Amino acid sequence: MEFTREIKAVFGDNKGRFPFCNCLIIDDEIKAVIDTGGGDPLHSRGFDPDLVILSHYHPDHIRDAASFNRPVYCHPADIPPVEKEEILLDYTSFRELGDTRARMVLEFLRYRPLPVTGSFADGDVLNFGRVQLRVLHTPGHSPGHCCFYAEREGVLFSADVDLTSFGPWYGHNSCELDAFEESIKRIMSLQPAVVISGHNDPVRGGEVQAALQAYLEKIAERDRLLLDFLERPATLEEMTDQKFIYGKHPEPAFLYRHFEKKMLKKHLDRLFTRGQVQVGGKAYRRLEKRQKFFYGGQD
Ligand SMILES: [Zn+2]
Repeated sequence: MEFTREIKAVFGDNKGRFPFCNCLIIDDEIKAVIDTGGGDPLHSRGFDPDLVILSHYHPDHIRDAASFNRPVYCHPADIPPVEKEEILLDYTSFRELGDTRARMVLEFLRYRPLPVTGSFADGDVLNFGRVQLRVLHTPGHSPGHCCFYAEREGVLFSADVDLTSFGPWYGHNSCELDAFEESIKRIMSLQPAVVISGHNDPVRGGEVQAALQAYLEKIAERDRLLLDFLERPATLEEMTDQKFIYGKHPEPAFLYRHFEKKMLKKHLDRLFTRGQVQVGGKAYRRLEKRQKFFYGGQD
């Protein structure tokens, strides 16, 4: 799909859904591809970029990057897990699945570590000829997650600020809930005309702000679901059984259950810090503000 003569989106296999992604092609004096997990729709074009840009380190976005045999660029914070499997296992938390399952997941995602040639920073302008892309460092989904903004054209490639109805995803150790919210707000403040994301259809015009707002609110909605459930004490395992976030866990179910648990834990940690839940043994429980006032935080 062409947005301008030089800016084109490639919608990946499986409609760009995980474990594939949508990619952006800059077909200018300097040719570039941003994210390479598009599968056949990307590779069958025979596009030969001068360089490869990665929005972040996740395997569904860097899939097949080495096949272009071109210099690879990425934000510094995400370079270590692109280059080293040992670091990826920690950043993602796949190591916690145990050796056999971790290996299975890396194969499912076709993860292949690759050397990164160079990096960019927030505010940098990448000049391809006619097209200029401003780098927006938008951490939260990953430490070095970046969006790329063609300011003149109003076209934003938002990668995994993906505006899906699922909402923001933060199921790895390296994800940060507060930072994710701030990144969404930053994108809203730019008021882009078009948002092309890593896993969804493009969003345009008046729908952009509403889509970003709905996406942001998903996080608070998950907080509320958890707090309602925690009227009674529950363990993290019991909350994971409820599938608050995914609704269902497709195959490989152990992986989606793992992601669900990781995401719930990020909410619980934040609710604990805010004094909205308390922990006793393995059980969490909602803590009412008035209880805190009258009873000094005790039950
Ligand atoms: Zn991602």
